[in-house]
Amino acid sequence: MEQQVYRTFSDYLKERYGEKVYKLPVALPVSCPNRDGSCGNGGAGCTFCGSIGAGYENLPADMTITAQLAANKAHIIPKYKAKKFIPYFQNFSNTYAPLETLRAWVQEAGAGEDIVAIYIATRPDCVSDEYLAMLRAEADKLGIDICVELGLQSVNYRSLQKINRGHTLGEFIDAILRIKAYGLQSCAHLILNLPWDTMTDVVEDAKVLSALGVDQVKLHALYIVKGTEMARQYEAGELTLISREEYEARVINFLEHLSPDIVLQRIIGRAPETNTLFSNWHTGWWKIRDNITATMAAKGQYQGRLCKYLNGPAVRKFLSV
Ligand code: SF4
Repeated sequence: MEQQVYRTFSDYLKERYGEKVYKLPVALPVSCPNRDGSCGNGGAGCTFCGSIGAGYENLPADMTITAQLAANKAHIIPKYKAKKFIPYFQNFSNTYAPLETLRAWVQEAGAGEDIVAIYIATRPDCVSDEYLAMLRAEADKLGIDICVELGLQSVNYRSLQKINRGHTLGEFIDAILRIKAYGLQSCAHLILNLPWDTMTDVVEDAKVLSALGVDQVKLHALYIVKGTEMARQYEAGELTLISREEYEARVINFLEHLSPDIVLQRIIGRAPETNTLFSNWHTGWWKIRDNITATMAAKGQYQGRLCKYLNGPAVRKFLSV
């Protein structure tokens, strides 16, 4: 049982939609500008990215959205008596498509009475005013929320260069400010154990996301997929991974520095065991999550406890006299 030491996604969904809501993965026939060379970064993709992106749990992308949602619902409805759903465009960069194609996908995914929101994972360089205006208009027509999930991974631009990310912090800030300007929701994905990052980077991750006012965060531990550039580096001894204990300490410090308003979709991701060289320290993700929450509860730690750095802390003393 998860203890309330941070703002959980399940609690947020119940607050917003009045009952449990289930996210259904949808695979679209998209690629990524960092994989096809369009972002001028050599076309090799991020060094950790496997050939199926993040979509190892997905159905095939050549199935229609309607068929994918029906197949997932057929599995979930009898098991959980689920009534409300969020289609999640998960794999690769889901706004990396012609604008009218994306509009049609959103209309198809959002058509059911039981759909309360659509979540769309993409990259900062695949977000523009034109696309956001279209998403805003479709969200209003459908009467649903739209959340744009952006991969950031780290605020440390040197680490982002090392993983061949094809963008740095600046593009992420630009994209978040634009998403907010259209009244859409935002979520940032971070990997808290990138080999070149330290605890200082993790605290800075929390500060930057809090200052920007992102709505949600999803934390992952790095997993190393066979055949990737990162797998080559790992096998050649060119990078070292932190221990599970250090990952847990980083998550706790991140949460304590994070604004209490931000919703945590996850504090550790599910990761595939097959085809990987390293995956969540060969430990179930829920065990790591439960250990983090138990440690925080035992030590009186909670999300936002150290979020005291915003809005001019040095001049507060002059305002209280
Ligand atoms: S941005 Fe995402 S899909 Fe593109 S190369 Fe990086 S991890 Fe893979």
